[in-house]
Amino acid sequence: MQTLTNRAKPVDRRPMTVLEKLYLPAIAKGMGITLKHFFKKKVTIQYPEEKRPFSPVFRGLHILNRDEEGRERCTACGLCAVACPAEAITMEAAERMEGEENLYREEKYAAKYEINMLRCIFCGLCEEACPKDAIYLSETFAPANFKREGFIYGKNDLLIPDPKKEPEQYQKALGSRVKKS
Ligand code: SF4
Ligand code: SF4
Repeated sequence: MQTLTNRAKPVDRRPMTVLEKLYLPAIAKGMGITLKHFFKKKVTIQYPEEKRPFSPVFRGLHILNRDEEGRERCTACGLCAVACPAEAITMEAAERMEGEENLYREEKYAAKYEINMLRCIFCGLCEEACPKDAIYLSETFAPANFKREGFIYGKNDLLIPDPKKEPEQYQKALGSRVKKS
């Protein structure tokens, strides 16, 4: 029969010799292969002690960004929610009151902002749609949870630490992928 590729290997159906019946050469050959792998570079990673570096295009958990003065950048325009193909984002807008200029950058802000991580496909379209550089996908991922509600991330979970009050945590959360404000 004509084969489609040249990879077909004919089966050797000759009766086994005495030496072959002892299986010793086959065992020695197998042990040789195992021994060879002892001296090769290990491909396994000892997680969680050792962590594999993320790809530069990795898209992880969202961050709601602040400006350099610590004010929330999001103006609750809703563009991210409209751009989201999974309809994972919901928000409620509120008007900034007098005296709140140090909290919110724009006259309108998101009083409530939620992302359902069970719906999110981490496509990054929300980040691309945002005109205020207010949302980024970071280099971390949503931790496992036993409850569905645990995957609904509210504003408090998403908001980056205040750069004035917690500069170290802010820098850590910012990571290398997130644009600086
Ligand atoms: S990453 Fe994609 S799916 Fe997830 S919230 Fe943003 S736009 Fe929606
Ligand atoms: S994150 Fe950006 S796109 Fe989404 S509501 Fe806020 S300002 Fe608008």
